[in-house]
Amino acid sequence: VLTFDEYQQRVIAAARPLPPRSVAATDATGLLGQVTAEPLRSRVALPGFTNSAMDGYAVRAADVRSASAEGPVALPVTGDIPAGDTRSLQLEPGTTWRIMTGAPLPDGADAVVQVELTDGGTDTVAIRGAVDAGCAVRHRGEDLQPGDEVLPAGTLLLPRHVPVLLSAGVQEISVIPRPRVAIVSTGDELVEPGREPGHGQVVDSNGPMLAALATECGFEVTQIRRVGDTGEAVRDALTELAGTADVIVTSGGVSAGAFEPLKLAFEGSGGFDFVKIAMQPGKPQGFGQLNGATVFALPGNPVSSLVSFLVFVAPTARVMAGRDPHLATVEARVGEHWTSPPGRQQFARVVFDDDGRVVRPIGGQGSHVLGGLAGSQALAIVPAETTEVAVGETLRVIPLEGLA
Ligand code: AMP
Ligand code: MG
Repeated sequence: VLTFDEYQQRVIAAARPLPPRSVAATDATGLLGQVTAEPLRSRVALPGFTNSAMDGYAVRAADVRSASAEGPVALPVTGDIPAGDTRSLQLEPGTTWRIMTGAPLPDGADAVVQVELTDGGTDTVAIRGAVDAGCAVRHRGEDLQPGDEVLPAGTLLLPRHVPVLLSAGVQEISVIPRPRVAIVSTGDELVEPGREPGHGQVVDSNGPMLAALATECGFEVTQIRRVGDTGEAVRDALTELAGTADVIVTSGGVSAGAFEPLKLAFEGSGGFDFVKIAMQPGKPQGFGQLNGATVFALPGNPVSSLVSFLVFVAPTARVMAGRDPHLATVEARVGEHWTSPPGRQQFARVVFDDDGRVVRPIGGQGSHVLGGLAGSQALAIVPAETTEVAVGETLRVIPLEGLA
């Protein structure tokens, strides 16, 4: 029997970031959730031209130095410069242009008087306040210079990175791709979701659940399959999938029954381990490499599958994606007593209380109890030595929402 930490470290240590590939920056949505493989530099100056930060009047600050509410300065307005004006314009001393936010500043102007400090005139404008040179002016290149680093390597691309990438003229981005995950449910009792199960049969809920988890974690699900309980069926399916997946996740067929197809297929073969982990749920686990794909053989009880995915598969696939392995955790106080099995690290289904500072157990903690799973908001991590989880104790908790 391995401790939880021993096994988790073992599977994470076997993972390497996937080779990067180049993606067009214009596919902004497709980039989200992927990690940059190299630093990105600006190809241009930003802003690309000196422009106005306000709606107002472009002036020479010297021409309005004496302006005040009591003694406004009247200046002729040469014309309008709207945003998008591509003309190269000149400001003559002692005159103004009316100018809009983002419009190019005319040569000779060194400040913008915001419209609120004027009478808004169109032939002549009365300016009721002085401004310093540079007021309300955004200078070319003050944000970025060509060659400036925009994002370091290893950045997880998020919506807030999109404007800088596109404005900086980046065309191609080298990113670490999303790990491709294939999912295989094992069990002669399983029927396709949507079909009515007969006596002795159950709906394959693990396949779609694991696919949903993988998708939420930012991985790419390539296949969801069901196979029967023979070693041959499992071996054939996995051998075929290994060619097009980075990770294969199976559920079921790894415990101590008489017909455990994962074990029949791979036990004793090189590169595969079937182990017992001091955890609850999720005690039997299988892990191996098959033709370049990393295989996780998870236990079949839905709660065991879910927990195993979050603590073993997700961290490993995150490393493949170039990310830090661990899902976010928070600390919370125990609001209601529960028990935990001796010598096993428990992942207890809990709900939050008191704005997330307190957790309470929900439902039965059996690995097959689906109602409690659906109602739970987090997994509370109970150390192996703890058997009585006492009110007031502080635990680390994995929230089940927002896994990306
Ligand atoms: P196993 O790990 O194969 O012994 O399965 C343990 C329990 O989980 C059994 O009650 C199975 O019927 C159930 N189970 C296994 N695979 C699935 C699945 N894909 N969907 C729903 N239940 C499953
Ligand atoms: Mg089974």
